[in-house]
Amino acid sequence: MNDTRPDHSPMDQFSVVDDCLQLGGQSLVDLAARIGQTPFYAYDRDAMTRRVALLRRSLPEGLSLHYAIKANPMPAVVQHMAGQVDGLDVASQREMQVALDTGTGPDDISFAGPGKSVPELEAAVAAGITINLESPTELERVGAIAARTGYQPRVAVRVNPDFELKSSGMRMSGGPKAFGIDAERVPDLLARIGELGLHFRGFHIFSGSQNLRPETLVEAQGQTFELALRLAESAPGPVEMLNIGGGFGIPYFPGDKPLDLGPVAEHLAGRLPAVRDALPDAEIILELGRYLVGEAGIYVAEVLDRKESRGQVFLVTNGGLHHHLAASGNFGQVIRKNYPVVVGNRVRGTEREVVNVVGPLCTPLDVLAQQMELARADVGDLIVVFQSGAYGYTASPTRFLSHPEPVEILV
Ligand SMILES: *Cc1c(COP(=O)(O)O)cnc(C)c1O
Repeated sequence: MNDTRPDHSPMDQFSVVDDCLQLGGQSLVDLAARIGQTPFYAYDRDAMTRRVALLRRSLPEGLSLHYAIKANPMPAVVQHMAGQVDGLDVASQREMQVALDTGTGPDDISFAGPGKSVPELEAAVAAGITINLESPTELERVGAIAARTGYQPRVAVRVNPDFELKSSGMRMSGGPKAFGIDAERVPDLLARIGELGLHFRGFHIFSGSQNLRPETLVEAQGQTFELALRLAESAPGPVEMLNIGGGFGIPYFPGDKPLDLGPVAEHLAGRLPAVRDALPDAEIILELGRYLVGEAGIYVAEVLDRKESRGQVFLVTNGGLHHHLAASGNFGQVIRKNYPVVVGNRVRGTEREVVNVVGPLCTPLDVLAQQMELARADVGDLIVVFQSGAYGYTASPTRFLSHPEPVEILV
């Protein structure tokens, strides 16, 4: 029986030598010296490779894996991932450029996201990538581009399903949504795609993000297949691709359990034969972001000051909310929980204490760890935030308070 659970603690992605975290075969201290500055994000290519390998051996054969590059669009990361997965999903023209620069063929790149501009659509049509249509207006724009240029745009329909992914971190389907086209309106849109003579590719049905419960994913995937088969009856041509979304989560907070792929794999293996019979031309695609890269990255900041205030220790670092919004708690709009954090150069230090790790910004929201037990740290020590390979740097307000930006490195 294959082990279908990922390493069970963020720390297990990385080894420790002489109490110092190792990354890409070197110690964090050496890596920091080589980079020559803190803060930085470091991403471990081997950890990404291992994650893709885990998926490949756990999931049924013949399922394609796509990387949603908004999770981490660093060109070196995207280049590495392009060699691991079967395709890339982009959400802007810049991301499209990064994806095309990897040498990935346009057949294996799709472009989703509401509010695509006409220049973005023109660039996508010219490149020959698949446009996941988000509205009738977008379809008409693509139709006009086809008429104007003589190109035959390749389009898929992003469907806003009539079900929702329960207990998902971020709901993106079911009910009224900005994403995709309501399932009940899709047949009309499919007819219009036929009238306009566009190249119909298939469906994109994405129902949510950051899910750690296999039973929820199983239910959503089952409903996704049923919906796709129903909609395929109105399709203007063969379904060449069926993107069933992803939504695989990673454990960020105390008590979060890694997703067990076992039940998801078993369910997919049971369903796929019938789906293949009904849609013999369809590539079935699983589209993942954070699950592929999130656990492969760390954010590293340096302790600049150590102070005490009314009985609590504060480690003040040169990094914080402006570089890593998610770890700080998203501007205080949610109940704040600590990401996994260690002192990278004293990982298992025997002298331990409960501290607050804060950043240099003039706001009480600039917190990386709150009342957390760490090895005793001092000025110059390196604070490491795990689970930082996705939605870190590019999902943070780096210009807030005008501090320097972090660097990024792939090791
Ligand atoms: C953001 C996004 C993803 C990736 O989400 P993760 O939670 O990082 O896996 C996948 N598909 C679509 C359509 C997205 O918008």
